[in-house]
Amino acid sequence: MPEPTPKADILVIDDTPENLNLLSVLLIKHGYKVRSVTKGSTGIRGAQVMPPDLILLDVNMPQMSGYEVCHHLKADDRTREIPIIFISALEAVSDKVKAFQAGGVDYITKPFQIEEVLARIETHLTLRRLQSQLQLQNEQLQQEIRERKHAEEKFATIFQHSPNPIAIVTVSEGQLMEVNPSFLSISGYTRDQVIGNSITQLHLGHDSATFLRRLQTTETFHNLEFELLTHSGSVKSILLSFDRIELNGTTYALLIANDITERKRLENEFISLVSHELRTPLTSMMGSLDLLSSGQLGSLTEQGQQVLSIGVKNAERLIRLINDILDLERIRSGKITMNRRSCNLADLMIQATEEMQAMADRSEIQLSTEPVSILLNADPDRIMQALTNLLSNAIKFSPAQTTVQMQACSSGQTSSVCISVCDQGRGIPSHQIQTIFERFQQVDTSDARQKGGTGLGLSICRNIIEQHGGRIWVESTVKQGSTFYIELPLNT
Ligand code: ADP
Repeated sequence: MPEPTPKADILVIDDTPENLNLLSVLLIKHGYKVRSVTKGSTGIRGAQVMPPDLILLDVNMPQMSGYEVCHHLKADDRTREIPIIFISALEAVSDKVKAFQAGGVDYITKPFQIEEVLARIETHLTLRRLQSQLQLQNEQLQQEIRERKHAEEKFATIFQHSPNPIAIVTVSEGQLMEVNPSFLSISGYTRDQVIGNSITQLHLGHDSATFLRRLQTTETFHNLEFELLTHSGSVKSILLSFDRIELNGTTYALLIANDITERKRLENEFISLVSHELRTPLTSMMGSLDLLSSGQLGSLTEQGQQVLSIGVKNAERLIRLINDILDLERIRSGKITMNRRSCNLADLMIQATEEMQAMADRSEIQLSTEPVSILLNADPDRIMQALTNLLSNAIKFSPAQTTVQMQACSSGQTSSVCISVCDQGRGIPSHQIQTIFERFQQVDTSDARQKGGTGLGLSICRNIIEQHGGRIWVESTVKQGSTFYIELPLNT
């Protein structure tokens, strides 16, 4: 049978061999492992080499008193924590005080009762065990605190030094809770001007209210083009990504920006330059193709006619693209102002439907419009352009034998009118719901080729609607259909 593990390792230091023997026998009998020595110096060495769990120490010893032994043990890191119980025939209070001053944890007077010795040993061993446990837990806690502090410092450094402007905003109010130095540098505001104020109060965008609504109704978006209005009134182009974060039970928007002002300027310059340069040769090409197809230069074979019609179709597409680009740039840069006047929405809805009827017939799609007579103060040509674009998209992306419906309703509460164009087409994946309003963004890269689009229509629509102080958005389910909404204010 294996020996039972001893309850604890006890070192007894007493110069009287009888006492030593008596204590050793009793303690061993009660399950302790005992080392006994008669000299203080031997006891110190033994404790240093192999620290016991507890020491029983006689006070009166010839060469080195118990107090001295205790002082040595307490001065040494290896033995400092070992509980020491003094055993002595001296009963004076001063002796006991001296023992506690030397670092003893208890004092037993001889002749002793073995039960008392055992009970005191047990108590101090338990105390020591609990103390060690506490020490360990404390060290673990300290380590955890150090690690957390380290992690916090790491993230704070990243936040502070990020070249990307970052802002943390409450979703409910759009209140700025935290911003980093890059944000202050791009916006031109000081920290005090920003913290606690909302994006609408600071007027950080042309339409901060719409932007806030977008934060409240969207879970996340990436690289959304946004025009940031700085403190000095200048405009910076930024790409904005947003995600929701929960902190202490409140939902915040984490906004990370990328300054693309310079890139945008070069891009716009390039696009407008190239477009202008392309228009002249294209017009001449179109003239030549027209001349060829008129037959004035001789008649063409059937194959020749086919090749010519491909040429004409593609030249027309190119012209459409260039016109769209120039149109968009002119609206964006404010070169085209909205020519607002009083017009009836019902007339615009009817005209737009009539214009798109031929296309709908070709695609075997039923166009259904419920005109609503409401007076608008708007540029009728531009609103027509937006409506026909939405109808044309709805027809393009719907299968035959389905219906495209245009409706309108006014809301007295917000004094605005909402026009909707609903189709039963292929729908738009949720992650592209935002991006399709950006330039050249198409759900499928083949859309330009197969459907003859430019990827600019919705961007133009959004610009037109925003110039009227309205907003445009879409709700869609893949394979079921999409509904585009245009909301226009009435009392402007
Ligand atoms: P395009 O000239 O390509 O139609 P738009 O800016 O008008 O350019 O539209 C961008 C893209 O949005 C389209 O290419 C298409 O992928 C998607 N889209 C627009 N309207 C619809 C719709 N009603 N149904 C499905 N997808 C649509």
